[in-house]
Amino acid sequence: MSHRYKKSEHLLNEALELIPLGAQTFSKSKTQFPYGVSPYFVERGDGSAVWDIDGNKYIDFINALAAITLGYNDPDVTAAVSKQLLSGVTFSLSHPLEVQVAKEIIAMVPSAEMVRFGKNGSDATTGAIRLARAYTGREHVAVCGYHGWHDWYIGTTARNLGVPETTQKLSHTFSYNDLDSLKKIFLTYPGQIAAVIMEPMSAEFPLPGFLEKVKETTHKEGAVLIFDEVITGFRFAKGGAQEYFGVMPDLTTLGKALANGYPLSAIAGRKEIMKLAEDVFFSFTFGGEALSLAAAFATLKKIQNCNVVDVISKLGEKIIKGVNELIIKHHLQAILTCIGHPTRSFLIIKDHSAYSEWHIKSFLLQEMFARGVLTLGTHNMSFAHQESDVFNLLMIYDEVFALLNTALSSNSLEQQLRCNVLIPLFKVR
Ligand code: PMP
Repeated sequence: MSHRYKKSEHLLNEALELIPLGAQTFSKSKTQFPYGVSPYFVERGDGSAVWDIDGNKYIDFINALAAITLGYNDPDVTAAVSKQLLSGVTFSLSHPLEVQVAKEIIAMVPSAEMVRFGKNGSDATTGAIRLARAYTGREHVAVCGYHGWHDWYIGTTARNLGVPETTQKLSHTFSYNDLDSLKKIFLTYPGQIAAVIMEPMSAEFPLPGFLEKVKETTHKEGAVLIFDEVITGFRFAKGGAQEYFGVMPDLTTLGKALANGYPLSAIAGRKEIMKLAEDVFFSFTFGGEALSLAAAFATLKKIQNCNVVDVISKLGEKIIKGVNELIIKHHLQAILTCIGHPTRSFLIIKDHSAYSEWHIKSFLLQEMFARGVLTLGTHNMSFAHQESDVFNLLMIYDEVFALLNTALSSNSLEQQLRCNVLIPLFKVR
């Protein structure tokens, strides 16, 4: 047991007896954090930093899987939540905050005319799919990207254990920036596709006209276009990727950044389709939970008033530029590149002649965690990140890339791993 993560590893081993996987989220589990060189439990967060239960401090570039856009314990959000806490959390009637937050979303997200709330992103994506099926009277859907844990989506991935085959047969995957792969689905299931749901962007930028052509094809075929903006919403621009790229979907799913880490998601979109939610069943006990709504109201106001997207974009641009310069400096261009939107960039890893991308990723995580940086390969920016955080990140990459170069050129990477090599969860992006 390594000393640095002693308490984390001890608690993980206890947790594994009580909680399958020892975590509630695959991306926070030992499947993604290599055992022996990783923290597993966090004690607290403040601004851009978190502390694990062993007392190690990290600059966080995971930011709760992109749910944190303002930073941990943001003073405005904490104040709004504290005030709301004193007057109640969940009630027997709706709370006025539902109307207030709906108004903010409609003001910010260009295609939003009506809004319904959920808790997780998966609530929103599944609700949107059900609305699209009800609206079109069709059953099949085309998917591109990641859309949550529910049957209709996860059945299309390698993690489809427990999903009925009949459900799997209704969902069809197409590839990003490959219009023909979408057209093929429409050709194979003529008049049967209810919805095209996609992340408007993940790591790769859309090719010129791609999103526009997806919209045109979807509408020509009588299907509903859903942009899954659970990650891009309120991050790529105040109005999300649809504002950034100037392409409006029929429905939008939102989550993550909506409430700076409080559990809230939403479906927003055209009135004609949203109105169907009066009959389509989308309803849950905690749908109008007021702490998260208070958090969302404060978060959305701050995103609008403090130029949050511009600030985090500028910092994020420095990361993309700086990391790519370091990749060249350390002669790692054949296996590494840093791409993506500045508010959420990715260190993309390719196989090396002697080692798989998973060997290299395990090595990089081992060395980054040891130096106090939390990343899973992404740089999810928050308003709390400072220039000094970016400076430190680049300094640490400089050290770690030098080690990687040496390990690769001396063929000793495997010997230098103090953990098992990561195993891919599934690849959907
Ligand atoms: N859509 C996208 C684009 C996501 O990134 C996620 C979560 N990573 C989801 C949907 C599902 O959200 P949740 O995990 O909150 O259900």
